[in-house]
Amino acid sequence: MFLKSAPGIFNTVTFRLTLWYVILFTMLLLVVFGITYITLSKNLVMRMDEGLANEIIEFEISYKAQGINGLKNQIELEIESEGKDRIFIRLMDLQKEVIESSDMSTWGNVPAPEGMEKLSMDEAMFETLRIPGNGEHHVRVISKRITQGYILQLGSSMHDDEELIGVFNRIAATSVIVLLISCSTMGWFMARRAMSGVERVTRIAEGIGKSDLTSRVPLGDEGEEIDNLARTFNDMLERIQEAVTELKDVTNNIAHDLRSPLTRIRGIAETTMTGLQNIDEYREMAGIIVEESDGLVSMINVMLDIAMTEAGVRGKELSNVDMRRLMKKAYEVFRTIAEYKGVFLRTNITTEPLIVRGDLSQLQRMISNLLDNAIKFTPNGRSVTLGLAADRSHTIISVTDDGIGIPEQDLPRIFERFYRGDQSRTTPGNGLGLSHVQAIVHAHGGKIKAESSPGKGSIFTVILPLCSGRTTA
Ligand code: ADP
Repeated sequence: MFLKSAPGIFNTVTFRLTLWYVILFTMLLLVVFGITYITLSKNLVMRMDEGLANEIIEFEISYKAQGINGLKNQIELEIESEGKDRIFIRLMDLQKEVIESSDMSTWGNVPAPEGMEKLSMDEAMFETLRIPGNGEHHVRVISKRITQGYILQLGSSMHDDEELIGVFNRIAATSVIVLLISCSTMGWFMARRAMSGVERVTRIAEGIGKSDLTSRVPLGDEGEEIDNLARTFNDMLERIQEAVTELKDVTNNIAHDLRSPLTRIRGIAETTMTGLQNIDEYREMAGIIVEESDGLVSMINVMLDIAMTEAGVRGKELSNVDMRRLMKKAYEVFRTIAEYKGVFLRTNITTEPLIVRGDLSQLQRMISNLLDNAIKFTPNGRSVTLGLAADRSHTIISVTDDGIGIPEQDLPRIFERFYRGDQSRTTPGNGLGLSHVQAIVHAHGGKIKAESSPGKGSIFTVILPLCSGRTTA
């Protein structure tokens, strides 16, 4: 929440990665130092307890063997070797009366052990005490009942161990600070390096303006992810460039196709303005204007139709279409047109119904356009065959002709909007028929391909996915 609204650097992925890295590293350091601290303190106390336990056994033995004098001697020896500030020894009875003790002047008032009357002879009691007047360090005290009536207390200053722990804490704190500074610097550089590829792609992307769609992001050595990003970006640019080029071509073609009829209309209008014609000539000119305008309107309608088809087949227009019936109807309609042109129209249509889920009027338009072209580009005396077959999941529609064929260099372009082969300049058309067919096929989830041998003829094959069910066509 905070980071989302934070300005500048705090909002960068580099900063966030570094922050995560530092947080994780800090937690790891705290766990490691915490465990070491606990283990160290426990071990020191255990070691001290062991030493105190061993020593109290020695005092117990001397007391039991030589009585109070033996204990006194032992106390003196111990104080001599350890020092009266480091250790104290005290023998008490159960009424807390001190029977014998080392020099307690530096120890202040060491309390008698809590519940001393309950102490057993087998088990010693350990306590960590802070004794007022004995400095800042703690004292570890062992208390043990050595005979029925006496308690022996042995205390040792924890000064050395606590100093050691203090040193450890100072080293740990310094290490944490040094490690955190170096790890955040390292984290920052690592994150920056990881993000440098993204920044590179961004910089290049910024440089690719409207007029420079040809530039591409070069692949670097920042890793697979960045290369994938650059590749995806380049693919996207490629598609945008294609779309822009296509748009330019279409715009040019539209302008060109609009200009000719408009120029003709204008010419006629100009002629009428001279006002020297008779009424029949005016009628004829008006007729030409209507014809040209109809041509323009129909071209615009086809373009709108293609655009709508490319946007997808609309649900409410969908029905189960029997392609066999549809093809037979198309055959009936086009037979007369073919006959008129002296072209033989044949069929090779399967006997079983083949159901396609689709838009009936669009599928009719698809067959009509293909048949129209085949008849248009086939000289008289030759033939056109309408075929329908199926494999397990597709219906295969073919329109084969023995016509003029399509030159090799034209073949890849015939589905482009407004593209017309050189040979078709003398035939009517606007170069939108096959783009419309392709848009319909794609909208129905199908594929279309064209094969041709110039001078021998062409085959257009459409493959559409089959479905089973009731028919409406
Ligand atoms: P149009 O028929 O209006 O020119 P189309 O988009 O239908 O436009 O076809 C584009 C071009 O493809 C045609 O101009 C023609 O050169 C070529 N073409 C299409 N069908 C055939 C065919 N059956 N035989 C030969 N050429 C064809």
